[in-house]
Amino acid sequence: MRVHATTLSAGISRTKEFEKKNLAQFAMNVGAKCGHGCLYCSTGALLRMHRSFRAVGENPLESGYAIVDPDTPQRVARDAAAMRSRDFVQLCTTVDAWSPEAQEHDLGRRCLEAVLSQSSWTMRILTKNATVKRELDIIERYSDRVLVGLSLPAAVDKSRIMSAVEPNASSNAERMLVLEEAHRRSLRSYDCRP
Ligand code: SF4
Repeated sequence: MRVHATTLSAGISRTKEFEKKNLAQFAMNVGAKCGHGCLYCSTGALLRMHRSFRAVGENPLESGYAIVDPDTPQRVARDAAAMRSRDFVQLCTTVDAWSPEAQEHDLGRRCLEAVLSQSSWTMRILTKNATVKRELDIIERYSDRVLVGLSLPAAVDKSRIMSAVEPNASSNAERMLVLEEAHRRSLRSYDCRP
């Protein structure tokens, strides 16, 4: 996996797609290409005109690489403090804040802290990586303002197929253990199924 570090411009921005579905009004993303490498990922097509692909010399429709922005928490903190209109913000909408390259910079946790340290923001997490479990302490601290979700796209008995389809994500069984732990701690949680 080739990992490119870049600097994006967006911190917290409005998301019409998630708003239409009543899921979140705002979005934040920690990069432009996710290293989980799911075969069905639509982000490359969605962001195909994004300048970061040309900047790092990669084809948005190909796989085998990731684009991550280690400075995301600073931009997010700036916007979270400056914006007066505050509501649900989704972490993330086009990449995964707990993908291997995002973990290298602790981006999931740092983004959570950057937003939740400001009053009135609420957060909706969606990930395919069980390492989000490390953040259950901060989620518990702000339990009335965080909803933690894990994608469960297939039954546990399809794990061999899914490890080929989602090569760098956690197994479904590992994700279910995180949801069980969140439930045990009475945290607000959900699973996302297609
Ligand atoms: S976890 Fe989501 S963003 Fe990352 S590769 Fe898979 S589908 Fe794409």
